[in-house]
Amino acid sequence: MMQGLKGKNALITGASSGIGQAIAVRLAQEGCNIAINYRKSLEGAEDTEAMVMQKACGQMKECGVKSLLVQGDVAKEDDVIAMVNTVVNQLGSLDILINNAGIQIERPSHEISAEEFDRVLSVNLRGAFLCARETIKHLLTQNRFGVIINVSSVHEIIPRPLYVSYSVSKGGMENLTKTLALEYAHRGIRVNAIAPGATVTPINEEWTDDPEKRAIVESHIPMGRAGTTDEMAASVAFIASDEAAYITGQTLFIDGGLTLYADFREAWSA
Ligand code: NAD
Repeated sequence: MMQGLKGKNALITGASSGIGQAIAVRLAQEGCNIAINYRKSLEGAEDTEAMVMQKACGQMKECGVKSLLVQGDVAKEDDVIAMVNTVVNQLGSLDILINNAGIQIERPSHEISAEEFDRVLSVNLRGAFLCARETIKHLLTQNRFGVIINVSSVHEIIPRPLYVSYSVSKGGMENLTKTLALEYAHRGIRVNAIAPGATVTPINEEWTDDPEKRAIVESHIPMGRAGTTDEMAASVAFIASDEAAYITGQTLFIDGGLTLYADFREAWSA
């Protein structure tokens, strides 16, 4: 068990699938109360809640871990304000925010519309900022320590052709993480990010479900395989815990070596 997580209240955005769902389950296993944000998929959110309670409590009917479903679009300011208020009212406080909600649009950069570009930025970057702002306001009011973890991407540093809005949003997330970390370090609020590499989730159905495409993706990963959502969630649990009490402003790359660039494994220049 990680130190300092039992009894903490955690809000995970976009927690009805993929990495967010795995983070919700793992933090519940560590004894956190879990607020599961979803935008559209009530069914997915309910699945997450069932998994949270099953993993946290096992055979016990009650184990002290509470869970909560909170609908809301992180791109809408009013939704974010209402969401954080609901969590604080229902659970009493909010200690851990996981900014996980994210979308991507594939389009050549010269063809992407202003609306499409804005949409990706408004969910991935502005949404993360708004959730952080509301959480920080609450932490300062209650004079509490807290943790914010942004789910970034290896595309925080690797350019990604055809996905310019996504690359820009994750690049921006690096400075969102660092700026907030610096601004609130003295108030006991730690802000970090994880940067997943290629991970098996619904966002990647196009290649995870196709053996040939999957082999191509995995050939670019030094460790030779895609990552799992549980591997992402394990790092989040560590960063959120008191074992990481002295870590702030960092992005932890969890990518099987992807950012080491597999093509450079063999020397190709004299
Ligand atoms: P996913 O599509 O399963 O999860 C994204 C979640 O965000 C979904 O549940 C979706 O409903 C939710 N969401 C989208 N827009 C929202 C909004 N406006 N408000 C609230 N929720 C919203 O895919 P995933 O792979 O689990 O993605 C989670 C995060 O991980 C994303 O930020 C993504 O960029 C990041 N990431 C994923 C990978 C990967 O390979 N899967 C790699 C790097 C980073």
